[in-house]
Amino acid sequence: MTDFGTLIVGAGIAGLTAARILTDAGRHVVVLEARDRIGGRVWTSRSDGEVLDYGASWIHGVDGNPLADAVEAYGMRTVEFTVGSYQPDGRAIAYYSPSGTRLSDEAAERFASDVHFFDARLATTIAASEPMTSFGSAVETTLGELDWDEERSARVREFLQHRSEEQLGVWLDDLDAHGLDDDAIEGDEVVFPDGYDELATHLADGLDLRRRHVVTRVRWAPTGIVAETDRGEFSADRVVVTVPIGVLKSPEFVIDPPLPQRLTRALDRLEMNAFEKVFLRFPEKFWDQDVYAIRQQGEAGRWWHSWYDVSAVHGSPTLLTFAAGPCARDTRHWSDARIGDSVLDALRRLYGDRVLQPDRIHVTRWQDDPFSHGSYSYMTVGSIPEDHDNLSTPIGDVMYLAGEATWTDDPATVTAAFKSGHRAAERILGRTVPFEDIWIRRTAGAGEK
Ligand SMILES: Cc1cc2nc3c(=O)[nH]c(=O)nc-3n(C[C@H](O)[C@H](O)[C@H](O)COP(=O)(O)OP(=O)(O)OC[C@H]3O[C@@H](n4cnc5c(N)ncnc54)[C@H](O)[C@@H]3O)c2cc1C
Repeated sequence: MTDFGTLIVGAGIAGLTAARILTDAGRHVVVLEARDRIGGRVWTSRSDGEVLDYGASWIHGVDGNPLADAVEAYGMRTVEFTVGSYQPDGRAIAYYSPSGTRLSDEAAERFASDVHFFDARLATTIAASEPMTSFGSAVETTLGELDWDEERSARVREFLQHRSEEQLGVWLDDLDAHGLDDDAIEGDEVVFPDGYDELATHLADGLDLRRRHVVTRVRWAPTGIVAETDRGEFSADRVVVTVPIGVLKSPEFVIDPPLPQRLTRALDRLEMNAFEKVFLRFPEKFWDQDVYAIRQQGEAGRWWHSWYDVSAVHGSPTLLTFAAGPCARDTRHWSDARIGDSVLDALRRLYGDRVLQPDRIHVTRWQDDPFSHGSYSYMTVGSIPEDHDNLSTPIGDVMYLAGEATWTDDPATVTAAFKSGHRAAERILGRTVPFEDIWIRRTAGAGEK
């Protein structure tokens, strides 16, 4: 006899979505969450009178996206902010040359059109690439086919380096050639002035949630599962495990007996990245007006190359930049103040003495978080896109894995987490569930296990 029908491990967006659907279908569900908050990598800070999303900020494309429908149905306020996916253009961006002068509109357009041209050629190279090809190698192959001078090639090469870092928190030679296959954006991108965590709050409404329950081991057999936690054991007919792959790979989280080979093979080839946000709030704006982003080209932008003006979102003059890939690893043990100084030095190359001292600097520390071990997953060289879906292969009707890393179409996003939680619930129920049932809440009769 088990205690519950379904245990959900993790109250991030994947876990909450699965729990929401199953609970509304009348299933007996409990969610075990290690932290004292829900939302996981969707985490909003509200200290000092300011709303800052320390984890996810963007919906990367609202068209045809059920997550955007959910957000709208829940009445969450959004602000359009469409350069969140490292686009070269489409919205106003202030580009600065390697020597620190602002590019004219014509020069910026020429550069963006080089990137678009290159992207089309790169897609062909990647489609034809052999297994074990890195993204960096695909970039070099493509550049080698073009009759571009050194300067032109250098600008596009570094843009692709930065895209790999900013989109996936990884150096381009460590990323599989297919690692950015799902990078296209459908429709506008939006962010959340009142905090992305409102999504978690809506999804969690009325669920049986146990915070501060750290699961250390999941024992499974064809008859059911037992989750060992620091507060005792919980037994159930089945479990949905939604912890990040950083936790799944760590010795602190044991699955016993180990996962079948199809899943471990996929898991081995995916990794957690290094990606941190750096927020700088200033007494007033000193940078270019009416731009979404500022970008530094050349060696000067090796670490700090892109700043996003999120003042309109936060209601105070604020720039957001990222420590991503090698920069995140190298600065991992630096203090916030030291990182802030490094960013300010980079800004001084563009704005000189106009750069003001920030009155608040905040750096996230996802690499050191024991409940994530990084920000999100990426494909190491040799992985295949299907590794994501393969990781979700159900183990009988006993164990289901969900979470951003288990979704092939658009991994590493909140959308992926949301859809993977929905998929796990559908598989458990053995029927399709329209996405709108999540927010319309057609509650079924209780008692089903
Ligand atoms: C800095 C940053 C920026 C990002 N930017 C964006 C963005 O702009 N747009 C976007 O779409 N995505 C973004 N992402 C990615 C997005 O946040 C994630 O893909 C998504 O939130 C993952 O949801 P999940 O449910 O799969 O995992 P999680 O949110 O990590 O949920 C897993 C849950 O499991 C819990 N847990 C872990 N270990 C245990 C344990 N041992 N026992 C019990 N519970 C445990 C965790 O505490 C967590 O609550 C960003 C992420 C970060 C960190």
